[in-house]
Amino acid sequence: MSMSDLAVPDNHVEDRAVAAYLGLAIGDALGATVEFMTPREIRAEYGVHDTIRGGGWLNLRCGEVTDDTTMALALGRSILEQGKVDAVAAARAFDGWMRAKPVDIGNTVRRGILRFRQSGELVAPPNDHDAGNGACMRVLPVALATFGYDRTRVRADTLAQARITHNHPLSDAGTLCVVEMVQAFLAGRSRVEVLHEHVYRLIEQHSPFRFRGGKPRENPSGYIVDTLQTVFQCFFDTDSFADCLVETVNRGGDADTTGAIAGMLAGACFGLKAIPDEWIDALAQPVREACAAQARALVGLSQQTVACCGAPHAAMVRGAHPTV
Ligand code: MG
Ligand code: MG
Repeated sequence: MSMSDLAVPDNHVEDRAVAAYLGLAIGDALGATVEFMTPREIRAEYGVHDTIRGGGWLNLRCGEVTDDTTMALALGRSILEQGKVDAVAAARAFDGWMRAKPVDIGNTVRRGILRFRQSGELVAPPNDHDAGNGACMRVLPVALATFGYDRTRVRADTLAQARITHNHPLSDAGTLCVVEMVQAFLAGRSRVEVLHEHVYRLIEQHSPFRFRGGKPRENPSGYIVDTLQTVFQCFFDTDSFADCLVETVNRGGDADTTGAIAGMLAGACFGLKAIPDEWIDALAQPVREACAAQARALVGLSQQTVACCGAPHAAMVRGAHPTV
């Protein structure tokens, strides 16, 4: 299947949503090959790593993806089944995902799912060690499903899925920032506008995310700050989908996750036509089809809800308004 088989939508929002979801999967598949390698090791092995080829420490098949994409797909399915973001449905979806023995799973994610399985508790207790990137890497379906909603509701839905496994102010802030960036691109905002309106606001509130002025970040860990500093540097200092992803994954470290997050942002920003055909073609067919179908269905859901009811508010969702 090539890009033309994806039936390039004429709807601008849908185009960017599909590009964001394929970008997530492409960044994951491309980065997984070099996850935990240093930039020097990557250079020695591949020169510049820019081909989806599988392998890596997980010994993936070519075009296969990891937890970043498969958790997002599990979350997206739960949203579509419920017609909204629902913490119980999301937690059950993550639980089902873990039972199906995914190729990889982060420690914080595993701990959070086990807690839910044992206690039914939907919110992880606050923990200094929960500032990993696991809530952020899988958040794209929430960004698509709540596009056009008011900020309070977007925040509530973002944190409902995030805190099932991660409960830390930096994870919360970084994850919310990525959601808002994706939504701003769907709305047609430019990179400069998104930088000023969302990224600088994040940095004002949480200075550790500052990403300019130092050296290029290499070997980013799974810490949300390392991850987003890398993604921001690569995304804002390159000018195309392909350059952004190649720059990101060649920095090594948690490359599948930096790749996944950079891919969703670059996809939303540059759109479907900017994604190289060979990367789309290299994705495993079921992954490519599931990502494209979910992207369309999730933005369709948000647009339906906004068109029929206006932008839902957080209070409505929590049931805080008595029925009149
Ligand atoms: Mg992964
Ligand atoms: Mg990873």
